[in-house]
Amino acid sequence: MFQSYLKFRDHCRVCGANFKAADAGDGPAVFIILIVGAIVTPLLIILQFGTPLPDWLALTITMIAAIVLCLALLPPFKSVLFALQWKHKAREATNEDIQ
Ligand SMILES: [Zn+2]
Repeated sequence: MFQSYLKFRDHCRVCGANFKAADAGDGPAVFIILIVGAIVTPLLIILQFGTPLPDWLALTITMIAAIVLCLALLPPFKSVLFALQWKHKAREATNEDIQ
């Protein structure tokens, strides 16, 4: 499905479906901000107040966890949102849709 890390192929390799119109937009990023934020915020609080780690180390661990989680979750979330878009034939609304 992916040509590179987050870039979809132009066509499906199995059935030849056209993926050029595929655009999940900001959808995956919004979900990931909410999910990763809910994970790393308690992590930072626990590391800062529940362990004897220095603040700079707790912050560094949290930042690395946030970056790794975001990079790991982006492709699957983009895939799921694309699949939902494809299934429900979602597309950009045009002027013709409201007439
Ligand atoms: Zn296909």
